[in-house]
Amino acid sequence: MTDRKPFVAGNWKMNKTFAEARELVAAMLKPLSGIAGVEKVLCPPFTSIPVVASMLVGADVGLGAQNMHWEEKGAFTGELSPSMVKEFCAYIIIGHSERRAYFGETDEQVNKKLHAAMKIGLVPIVCVGETLDEYESGRTGEVVSRQIKLGFAGVDFASAQRIVIAYEPVWAIGTGKASSGENANEAVKQAIRRTLSATFNEAIAQSIRVLYGGSVTGSNAPEFFSQPEIDGALVGGASLKPDEFVAIVKAAA
Ligand code: PEP
Repeated sequence: MTDRKPFVAGNWKMNKTFAEARELVAAMLKPLSGIAGVEKVLCPPFTSIPVVASMLVGADVGLGAQNMHWEEKGAFTGELSPSMVKEFCAYIIIGHSERRAYFGETDEQVNKKLHAAMKIGLVPIVCVGETLDEYESGRTGEVVSRQIKLGFAGVDFASAQRIVIAYEPVWAIGTGKASSGENANEAVKQAIRRTLSATFNEAIAQSIRVLYGGSVTGSNAPEFFSQPEIDGALVGGASLKPDEFVAIVKAAA
């Protein structure tokens, strides 16, 4: 038995204007606040972060950003720094597969962002996961283990325990084709906790929360949350639907 607290984060991706964000949060804030025992986080686009932050004041729901640069300031047009994110948020998604695939984010950049997040005091949600090709050729373990080793390089033992990892098989993200609970559990056990144990130690490997992400819905969430290695979910599409997101959080409680 471990005492890892369940964790559910909603990644809105590039969805919702300011007004739509306000509407979405208004629709789910009350039911979400009533669910105890789960760490809940909303990750809207940057433009909606201030309004969502104001709506979450005093609520038991955290706020996260979907990306940031690792540098504190300077000539990085279009980027936001860790302290800019920290002004509003307590969490930061790092290395989402869409950033890796469409914006060329590398394990080395993930590592720089992770160090920057730890330094400023943000809780990082680090995403790892294999593509369909890698999955079908039996390379899940190798790929995910490499992402963890390179992504976590130089992280000290105390900081490591604050990190949340999201195991997100790329083939399951936004496709409606979720992994099975058993398959995801095995990947988390073999590829993630084993690598964490070798990199840090077994106690740290057991203390880090690992989420599953990839087409999670209110109906399949219980299958994932009943797995011993899975501590919650990073939710994309379903986090834009108040009833679905609330159902997922309830399933984690
Ligand atoms: C995600 O955006 O991280 C994700 C898992 O998306 P979806 O739930 O839509 O598959």
